[in-house]
Amino acid sequence: MAADLGDGLFELLARYGHEQISFAYDPECGYRGIIAIHDTTLGPALGGTRYWTYRGDREALVDVLKLSRAMTYKAAVAQVRVGGGKSVIMKTEEPVDREAIFRAHGRHVESLGGRYITAEDVGTSPADMEFVRRETRHVLGLMEGFGDPSPVTAFGVYRGMKACVKHRSGSDSLAGKTVAVQGVGHVGLHLCRYLREEGARLIVTDVDSDKVKRAVAELGATAVAPEEIYEVEADIFAPCALGGVLNDKTIPKLRVEIVAGGANNQLAEERHGDLLESRGITYAPDYVINGGGLINVVAELEGWSREQAHAKAAEIYDTVLHVLTIAKEEGIASYRAADRLAERRLAEAARRKKEGKQESR
Ligand code: NAD
Repeated sequence: MAADLGDGLFELLARYGHEQISFAYDPECGYRGIIAIHDTTLGPALGGTRYWTYRGDREALVDVLKLSRAMTYKAAVAQVRVGGGKSVIMKTEEPVDREAIFRAHGRHVESLGGRYITAEDVGTSPADMEFVRRETRHVLGLMEGFGDPSPVTAFGVYRGMKACVKHRSGSDSLAGKTVAVQGVGHVGLHLCRYLREEGARLIVTDVDSDKVKRAVAELGATAVAPEEIYEVEADIFAPCALGGVLNDKTIPKLRVEIVAGGANNQLAEERHGDLLESRGITYAPDYVINGGGLINVVAELEGWSREQAHAKAAEIYDTVLHVLTIAKEEGIASYRAADRLAERRLAEAARRKKEGKQESR
């Protein structure tokens, strides 16, 4: 789905299958924002606001198109009642009035009348979302809201990891398994706690030595240098730091049976999903296994308790198993199976919606 920057605007929208794109400009504060609504079949388009420096308008547009489309797929596999959307605000070199920028964004969100709901994302903070809130109620993840999603994300990753083990061996126990965890930040550390609790052995790394020390002291983990994590002998590799870590350089080094972690965009390119497959490594598609973060945000929207959010994240176990079964039955790589599952759920929901409309006529 690589977008050609030479495409015309509507060709670009058609290629990604978007419903609506909204551009807004406020010359007074310098706000330049794009909101992309990819698909509202399952509910209002939900997705965070990214505040980022882009090399041009077109780069920002392609980014928001890709990110919002990914949200549709993530929501469809997580079986939550939201669609996919995202917004970007173009960051500039000049100092800006942050309140004015985010209030302008709030007005932009408000102008869509609830078809798009925003939240925090890369480059934005809960305080920024409070500014957005002054202009619209279509914003989640506020300071007094559900807060840090990483415990729910980590729980979902833990459940998805168990499903991978079940898929390969018939038992889902992680006791005695060795898990190599890349990045012991918010998600990684919570994940390590679940793993330790179940009796797994931990090998950890991080570029921040204090975080490594904490994991070693608290959980008895073995520490390795960041570049060594790809070649340690383990049962499972759990990327919980950066995107793009599964690539031509790293995949040949892996000495594991399973890759299952919380990081976004783990495959440098789609073909790396096929490369993992050809090496006999079971890969839990990132947007399926890390759906707990989205579930945490939806919990706020739906008014769920923390227990309900955890129960929903626990279902990631079944979803990962389902994806791996589709992959096996249809002879395709797991990342493709995840896309198929999402597309089938969307098509089914669209069909039901259409039938419902016809019945009510
Ligand atoms: P975080 O910043 O708290 O943790 C990331 C950790 O990775 C940090 O400790 C950092 O020092 C470390 N790191 C960075 N580069 C590294 C490298 N080269 N080698 C080893 N360690 C490195 O972030 P987080 O909230 O834990 O998120 C981790 C990943 O999970 C990100 O890709 C994020 O997009 C994704 N994710 C997070 C959530 C969530 O709920 N927080 C939800 C979905 C996806």
